[in-house]
Amino acid sequence: MNSRKVLLTIGLIVLGLALAAGLALYFKDTEEPVLVLTPAAGPIGPTAPFTVTADDPGSGLRSLSVIVTQQGKAATPVQLSYATPEAHAEATFTLEGHGFAEGPLTVAVRAADASIRGFGQGNVRTASFEFTLDTRAPVISVLSTAHNVNRGGAGLVAYSLNEDAKESGVAVGERFFPGYKQPSGVYLCLFAFPWDMDIPDFKPQIKATDLAGNSRVSGFIFHPVDRWKFKTDTLTLPQSFLDAKMPEFETLVPQATDQLERFVKVNTEVREANAKEFYELRSKTNPVPLWSGPFLRMPNTAPRAGFADARTYLFDGQDVSHSVHLGLDLASTVADEVPAAADGKVVKAGYVGIYGNTVVLDHGLGLMTLYAHLSAIGVDEGQMVFRGNPLGRTGTTGLAGGDHLHFGVMVSGLPVQPIEWWDDHWMKDNLADKLALAKAAK
Ligand SMILES: [Zn+2]
Repeated sequence: MNSRKVLLTIGLIVLGLALAAGLALYFKDTEEPVLVLTPAAGPIGPTAPFTVTADDPGSGLRSLSVIVTQQGKAATPVQLSYATPEAHAEATFTLEGHGFAEGPLTVAVRAADASIRGFGQGNVRTASFEFTLDTRAPVISVLSTAHNVNRGGAGLVAYSLNEDAKESGVAVGERFFPGYKQPSGVYLCLFAFPWDMDIPDFKPQIKATDLAGNSRVSGFIFHPVDRWKFKTDTLTLPQSFLDAKMPEFETLVPQATDQLERFVKVNTEVREANAKEFYELRSKTNPVPLWSGPFLRMPNTAPRAGFADARTYLFDGQDVSHSVHLGLDLASTVADEVPAAADGKVVKAGYVGIYGNTVVLDHGLGLMTLYAHLSAIGVDEGQMVFRGNPLGRTGTTGLAGGDHLHFGVMVSGLPVQPIEWWDDHWMKDNLADKLALAKAAK
């Protein structure tokens, strides 16, 4: 045989095999298409998107349809057919525009494949799903009255909802502070007036979204107060500080030509990563308050740096870096015992970049306290502690020049002014009534 004949023969054999395989698949596809509807159950809003997928790797899909019925009323939001069978089909739809009423309805999905089974009908798969159409947004009733909020500080609002919520809380600009349902049924939401937000921009609103995805926003009466003047501070970085502190960060920031460049990266990139780590702890909070009464301030300590101090760092007279100090620095004797500010649960006990050895306590409702630069940690994650229990000892780990405690308070991950939480009057005026109201309500 010449080479042309050989090629032709091989070609025919390949074609024949492919045909045989195709026919075998065509006749042998006894599998019905696989259907998936998302969501598959539950309350559903009129604009919530459904996704239906059908897969048939055998002979491929010939048709896919969705029929919605409710007490004699029917609609067909999806009706697809394929001249060339498809292995995968997908469609999205909503319940909007078909005139369905509040209440139960059925979503039936049907897919047929291209096999010749069923006298040419193909393998047919049908599935039906039950839903409750919910067209109404939750009704928010604000229960608390006085909401005075200091810039940089916290506030508490109590409210009730007329139906179960997927999510509710207070929106402040782009930020969202979750509210938590109390055993009484009342919701409590601790929120904050961000230190870096101007008074005219502070417009907190309660937002609630029900299980079907319907949302409502409600305002409430509040009074923003510019109580504190945040300071600006200039710190000169001596070479001796960089030489002493930067080796600690060589594994975290290996790429730096000198210790000054390393410091700048630590002060920006590591600081930002640490803030993100603390922010993410908010999901670990207890839905019910664990604290009661004013927080304990570490005794016999002198304040060194304040909350929201804007710092400029100078090296050789040059402005090399900036940061905002989001806690209070308290100095005592070296390696002094650090007490828990209030009852809570240890949600972090370990090394966190610029904060060094750090303990974070959760007090419930998104409220957390932070203890940084410790020389020793004496508690474990998951452990419950009481107000005054020792957490560890002060030190200089992380970006600390001298032995001190860096004490921070966070509301749903946002640092707030700690001094409010030491203030018995502020607690009584701003929290006590609301906490009591949530406890007493039936
Ligand atoms: Zn500090």
